[in-house]
Amino acid sequence: MVAVPTLSDDSAVQSEHFDVLIVGAGISGVGGAYHLSTQCPEKRFVVLEALESFGGTWLMHRYPGIRSDSDLYTFGYRFKPWTGAPIATASEIRQYMGDVIDENDLDRHIRYHHKILSANWSSAKHLWTVDVANTDTGAALRFTTNFLWMCQGYYRHREGYTPKWPGMDEFEGRIVHPQTWPENFDYRDKRVVVIGSGATAATIVPAMANDCAHITVLQRSPTYFWTGSNSNELADTLRELEIDEVWIHEIVRRKILHDQEMVARLAFDQPEFIAKELIEGVRALLPDGYDVEKHFTPRYRPWRQRLAFVPDGDLFAGIASGKASMVTDEISHFTTTGIALKSGELLEADIIVTATGFNLSVLGDIAFSIDDAAVDFADTVTYRGMMFTGVPNLLWVFGYFRASWTLRADLIGDLVCRLLHYMDDHGYVSVTPALRPEDHDMPLLSWMDPENFNPNYLMRSMHLLPKRGDKPEWQHTQDYWIEKDALPSVDLEDGCLIYR
Ligand SMILES: Cc1cc2nc3c(=O)[nH]c(=O)nc-3n(C[C@H](O)[C@H](O)[C@H](O)COP(=O)(O)OP(=O)(O)OC[C@H]3O[C@@H](n4cnc5c(N)ncnc54)[C@H](O)[C@@H]3O)c2cc1C
Repeated sequence: MVAVPTLSDDSAVQSEHFDVLIVGAGISGVGGAYHLSTQCPEKRFVVLEALESFGGTWLMHRYPGIRSDSDLYTFGYRFKPWTGAPIATASEIRQYMGDVIDENDLDRHIRYHHKILSANWSSAKHLWTVDVANTDTGAALRFTTNFLWMCQGYYRHREGYTPKWPGMDEFEGRIVHPQTWPENFDYRDKRVVVIGSGATAATIVPAMANDCAHITVLQRSPTYFWTGSNSNELADTLRELEIDEVWIHEIVRRKILHDQEMVARLAFDQPEFIAKELIEGVRALLPDGYDVEKHFTPRYRPWRQRLAFVPDGDLFAGIASGKASMVTDEISHFTTTGIALKSGELLEADIIVTATGFNLSVLGDIAFSIDDAAVDFADTVTYRGMMFTGVPNLLWVFGYFRASWTLRADLIGDLVCRLLHYMDDHGYVSVTPALRPEDHDMPLLSWMDPENFNPNYLMRSMHLLPKRGDKPEWQHTQDYWIEKDALPSVDLEDGCLIYR
């Protein structure tokens, strides 16, 4: 482990300047680099990535079975056809991103092992000064940039969220979080308990079930799942007709987005109908008499949390075969040999996997300041879920939860490039969101409406996130179908953006 260096203000370290600095080489950062190089070829930019390679989420997560839960026709970029099965493994996604990097000569812009520690905006110089640790060599580096394009994701990469339960220290087996999965971890013939029943558990359980002695999913309350085959009939037909892959990508994307919109609207308008459809879909894959009411009938409205897709029903096949089982109960405490439940039952385990979620990270845990005064993003109001009042020349890519993240990364890519051109054309050096006079009595709400979407990691950390207003300009609607038309036509002179 290399010690993290720091730079004092009078440091003699030379700084390097770029017009735009992209933070992170995940799907958003690589997409940002593509949009900049194609739409703003005159801009000098760099992508700084803390890890040893590109991929972000898809590099970091190495647990068994790691795969997308969105289809890659929409999780893939708008500009690069996806040619595989809709649900993809992490390594297939990295391969796809690697192709984007190679085909567009983006590698020369990316610097790995560059962890950003702090960023200070100078109002006098209209510049961000960014201090970086090279986690490979230990060197302290400094960059300056006119514009920060934050593509650092939304959760803390080095550790997942594990609640503290009584007696955890006494457990004599191994406790593992999926986010920090040990290399070559041997679980053969072991008794495994997975705590949590979200998308991660739905992935890990079928991937481990055949090799371990038994795997049990322990959930406090049930989750919605939807299931189907990991193929796309329309894409298969178009391929049979030897249609160009660029066309197939566009047509299949449109079809999927059209269908998803109908389901999303129905989930709001007729939640009982959608809930019943989802639950019956699961019931059909389980043995007769299985207690679907107890284990697969959630208490929340569908789409209030991300809907986990189970390709080819593999999770339910594991349950039907007896290799996996569900327990719906609450943890009382850990024992030396497993978990004691509030019902009095004891779950014996050699390995406990805590699929209990993320620690949210607001803007990469970077120490931001403006003219040396610390910025607390919780004190700001978000401009369209991407910029923040009082914070100049900075934009965060925060995607969708109910549609593929990358759809928004592409839309934002276009908007940033349009904004940069607009500023150049008018000779502006900074852009800062500010509430308009008519916004001053607007109620300030939490980043996300908990009635609309309420996963635990957001609920735990909402107080750290910027505020939202009650007008479209001041919120992230989480609605791709509104934003696909709204973002390309955003009026850059709408009075919310102040230019200098
Ligand atoms: C297991 C899992 C499965 C998912 N599946 C889907 C899915 O199927 N569909 C979907 O839409 N969404 C999915 N998501 C959400 C997913 O995280 C996003 O869709 C998307 O991958 C986020 O991409 P990103 O580039 O914005 O962020 P990330 O993938 O998180 O990448 C951010 C990058 O920034 C780097 N970084 C962060 N801080 C710093 C710093 N201070 N200095 C330098 N570099 C920094 C990180 O190292 C990382 O490489 C999933 C999430 C997880 C965890």
